[in-house]
Amino acid sequence: MKVCKFGGSSLANAAQVNKVIEIVLADPSRRLVVVSAPGKRHQGDTKVTDLLIELAKTAMKGENTDRQFGAVVERYAEIAQQLRLGDEIIRQIEMDLMDRLAQVGKLTGPEFLDLLKAAGEDNCARLVAVAFSARGKKCRYAGPKETGMVLTGEHGDAQLDPASYDTLSRAFSNFEGIVVYPGFFGYTREGKVATFPRGGSDITGSILAAAVCADVYENFTDVDSVFPCDPRVVPEVAEGEGIPTMTYREMRELAYAGFGVFNDDAVIPAVKARIPINIRNTNHPGEPGTMIQQSRRVVPGTVVGIAAMDHCCNLVVEKYLMNREIGFGRRLLTTLENEGVSYEHMPSGVDSQCIIVKDMYLPREKESRVLAAIRRELKPDYMSVERDLTMVMVVGEGMCYTPGMLAKACAALAQEGINISMVNQASNEVSFMIAIRSADSDKALRALYRTFFK
Ligand code: ASP
Repeated sequence: MKVCKFGGSSLANAAQVNKVIEIVLADPSRRLVVVSAPGKRHQGDTKVTDLLIELAKTAMKGENTDRQFGAVVERYAEIAQQLRLGDEIIRQIEMDLMDRLAQVGKLTGPEFLDLLKAAGEDNCARLVAVAFSARGKKCRYAGPKETGMVLTGEHGDAQLDPASYDTLSRAFSNFEGIVVYPGFFGYTREGKVATFPRGGSDITGSILAAAVCADVYENFTDVDSVFPCDPRVVPEVAEGEGIPTMTYREMRELAYAGFGVFNDDAVIPAVKARIPINIRNTNHPGEPGTMIQQSRRVVPGTVVGIAAMDHCCNLVVEKYLMNREIGFGRRLLTTLENEGVSYEHMPSGVDSQCIIVKDMYLPREKESRVLAAIRRELKPDYMSVERDLTMVMVVGEGMCYTPGMLAKACAALAQEGINISMVNQASNEVSFMIAIRSADSDKALRALYRTFFK
């Protein structure tokens, strides 16, 4: 069985919903269909989830919600009318929204907001199930309540209670036809609706794929495949090949460095269960997309992708004879921990320690406090914070045991006159990263793409 998840752009209007139906019907193993809320129909449009957030906020302020209510209903009505699904489903969606709105004041703010946000996916799943049935297919809606998807943690940032896997797997142990399931939300033990972080329908799809031990988790979006570089920065890549297969490790490294196509957090359940993930395009269903799996055939000396992580800074701490001072590293990290600074990498010299940190963990307002704390604790000779850095990551299992990969990258950057301020490679050799000035980031990506892919 395949679990297929369709994102908001795949459900934005009736034409897109029809594509979803065709894709699912084209393969009888596509039986569990997870949907997002309708997304943007065009640039400048608003996603249903954002309309619902506005609706919830207006209701919480005690203001008139007619306009916001109408805007949400209108999105579903447009799809239902164009698909000729009749008025009943629209009436049901209106009733559902009214029931949810009636909870204002009875729930806490975050609970109410989640109740409204979840309406986007929930009603979309009901509508899509009706659309399948209208095509004469045996199809039903199933949701988190009846299948036991229990969430814990904060509203808007909830996580699955791992005990749910058993319940979910039992709920789907034996079902007929196609099931359409809403993404993005579940229920707390107390029976309140709770949502995953934004974009969380990917998480739902991944959880269900793990729970039913799917053969594949197909994640349908609006790109043909994952590209080896961001095509907005490296236009040549758009005409070139997408990545046919990559390993979970490669995906994780690229996602870490900012590849936008997938969210590595979202796929953790599928990765842990070793379910292959297939990123595909709803608009080009004939394209095989990118398959992400545990292992793949690797050509030695090849790179799978190059990513750039902007907004980094380098905190440098220098102290003569640092290497002989037992506990220096521990105290430095403890100081950062006490200041709530999360670090990314920690390359070191003989008497200097660099700490690569994302800007958001060391904003300028916090810098002098953090430096003062380090000064008190470690009495360094010198400290500095270098900002506007980009970490360029070159990733590929094929780099293992291949001499000269880093040399090629450095030569390409040198030829462009790009200075390297730090290099880091873990001994698994699946990636290396190079710190450069952010102003050089695009130029560096283009040079590295030409070196490794042309
Ligand atoms: N509709 C939700 C959002 O816009 C969840 C999702 O689409 O995955 O964030």
